[in-house]
Amino acid sequence: MTIPTVAPAEVLFDPAVETMPWDRLQQAQLGAFTDLLARLRTHDVWRARLRDAPASIKALTDLSDVRMTMKEDLRAAQAEQRPGRPLGDFQLVETEELIQFTSSSGTTGTPVFFGLTPNDLERWTSRIANAYRTAGVAAGARVAHTTGMAIVAGGMPYADGIRAAGGALAWIGGQTSSRMTLSLERLQLNVLVGTASFVTHFARRCEDELGRPATELSVRTIIAGGEPGAGVPHIRQGMLDAWGATRVSELMGLGDVLPAMWAECHVGQGMHFTAAPDVLVELVDPETLAHVPWEPGATGEAVYTTLTREASAVVRFRSRDQLTVTAVECACGRTSPTVRCVGRTDDMLIFKAMNVYPTAIRDVVLDVASDHLSGAMRIRKERADQVRFDTPLPLQVELRDDTDASRAAEKLAAAEEAVRQLLRVRIAIEPVPIGVIPVGEYKNALTYVDAE
Ligand SMILES: [Zn+2]
Repeated sequence: MTIPTVAPAEVLFDPAVETMPWDRLQQAQLGAFTDLLARLRTHDVWRARLRDAPASIKALTDLSDVRMTMKEDLRAAQAEQRPGRPLGDFQLVETEELIQFTSSSGTTGTPVFFGLTPNDLERWTSRIANAYRTAGVAAGARVAHTTGMAIVAGGMPYADGIRAAGGALAWIGGQTSSRMTLSLERLQLNVLVGTASFVTHFARRCEDELGRPATELSVRTIIAGGEPGAGVPHIRQGMLDAWGATRVSELMGLGDVLPAMWAECHVGQGMHFTAAPDVLVELVDPETLAHVPWEPGATGEAVYTTLTREASAVVRFRSRDQLTVTAVECACGRTSPTVRCVGRTDDMLIFKAMNVYPTAIRDVVLDVASDHLSGAMRIRKERADQVRFDTPLPLQVELRDDTDASRAAEKLAAAEEAVRQLLRVRIAIEPVPIGVIPVGEYKNALTYVDAE
């Protein structure tokens, strides 16, 4: 594969922003942050929350004095119904000014609802389009959009963004597998958008429906989002092989902030930030909350501020997404750093005194035993809020149909040992047949609570 050193200018959705040096862009956004503070201070709830914030923000370090917004704050603001104020305490505009509602996925609790003004919708659509353009959607792309839920961040807003990026949208989600497969075939769709686990699962369903491999369909670009995974080499290769695709682009966003904020370009070294100028992102140490510089290898939690959203705002929103910076330069010409999401800080589990992300366990297990596994796996918890484990973490994995049981058993034992060595955590693997672990089309959890 040859990678052009500079992407043709027409490929960039918003060249002025995307090629501005990252430091300069962030500095310019601090000015917008000051404007945001002034705007929010005209509202009672925010005036109280911003009591200790400086009047103007001149340097990134000034942000440390601005109170963070937590997911719990957003939920609390909507905990009580307020007649005529559907978005609760954080609603900044009259209800009559809203033209759309969306909701967060609710995978970590009650969903939070958001609203958009006409301006908000236009800005969201542009930024989401930028993410899809970065991920490979332009004129000629015929895009299969597989979520079945319109109201969530990855539903209607993605549909709008895909069209604005230049793609032809085929919203095939929410139908039976056979209808989805039929659309994929008849419309010769060449871009597939879905979660990493759904993309793999869907290839198998297509094969069942068609009686021939999914590689014979036209999907060549896979855009995977909603959960970490598409950046992991084995998972990525599995998706490429299952569809006969030539490109996997990872894409990530948050309903609370903007549904698509990071996307991977054709170079494939990680996801660029695609939500500027409307969103400011900070990287902080999740323990000390000190800023972490954007340098290759740096790791921290992403903290987001919506600089321009009118209907409601989040100020320094703690995403709980743990990012690692993979590079600060890219041959595509975009100047934002590239990152991978390594896990969610609130997914973190503790085995004895060791902290571990379920995604890290999955990556090691796949590294050793991917030949025998479907890729679906999950850790069993005794209670939904269980974080600590004193006995080996019970890990259910799905065996492939065609695999040799004794060879698989050997590999799984080796995987347990590799996890112990590399992560210093003990796991107990329980193999199950294919189909036991449910695969949804939206945000699959890596942990579950047994119904018994
Ligand atoms: Zn790039």
